[in-house]
Amino acid sequence: DADLEYDWTTTPEISYEDIGGLDHELEQVREIVELPLRHPELFQRLGISAPRGVLLYGPPGTGKTLIARAVANEVDANFVDISGPEIMSKFYGESEEHLREVFEEASANAPTIVFIDEIDSIAPPRDEVSGEVERRVVAQLLSLMDGLEDRGDVIVIAATNRPDGIDPALRRPGRFDREIEVGVPDREGRRTILDIHTRAMPLTEDVDLDGVADRTHGFVGADIEALAKEAAMNALRRVRPELDLDAPEIPADVLANITVTGDDVEA
Ligand code: ATP
Repeated sequence: DADLEYDWTTTPEISYEDIGGLDHELEQVREIVELPLRHPELFQRLGISAPRGVLLYGPPGTGKTLIARAVANEVDANFVDISGPEIMSKFYGESEEHLREVFEEASANAPTIVFIDEIDSIAPPRDEVSGEVERRVVAQLLSLMDGLEDRGDVIVIAATNRPDGIDPALRRPGRFDREIEVGVPDREGRRTILDIHTRAMPLTEDVDLDGVADRTHGFVGADIEALAKEAAMNALRRVRPELDLDAPEIPADVLANITVTGDDVEA
């Protein structure tokens, strides 16, 4: 359909190694999602329906989107990312139709993971919404989930910061009946995430990532990524006056001497 801007042929380039501090959560998601996507025939043989929906909940920036992308990549499934708020605003008045098209394409291109970010914005509890439109969108999503074949080759992963902010009917069996909390990382988690986001950086030996992990209580993955990027930008600001930026290219030996130091990280 011409209205769909999604690229159905690509799987994301995120792997399990890009996700820190969520080993247990990842294991749970994989257990639920991988088998039906890879071997739907097993569920058919056993006469049980495969899971259709998984709800990931937790604070922003903790890696919910990363998990969905990584699973799609690892099982070679197609991935379509729909944002709840975007469905409601950009497609206002056509939200139901749009959702229907997404599910249709997902089935036609199976195996597919449909990721619905901020699902609370399209599926708030129906007794709390004022508008008829919202009510209809929730009903549409419910019927689309119910309409997914038992085959298991389309799985919907939804994310929210507020699990109580979605219509309870969505959490019944056959819909989002599996829920996994994706929480704020602990010290070990922060340490691993720091490694991930600095692994491509030329760090000097005085960079103390253990110390950073100690001092960043409450940071989520997105905060740690921002901290690492800021450190690299500090390095760039520091060396910039010494560089000949008008030259067509920075000479290799000069480039090789650019590093991210302890001071850049702490600044
Ligand atoms: P939101 O609810 O805002 O959509 P989210 O939980 O889906 O948040 P992500 O979009 O997955 O968060 O994370 C944002 C960015 O933060 C990621 O692209 C990644 O760079 C970094 N990040 C978050 N969590 C982790 C993690 N556990 N390990 C490594 N990087 C992470």
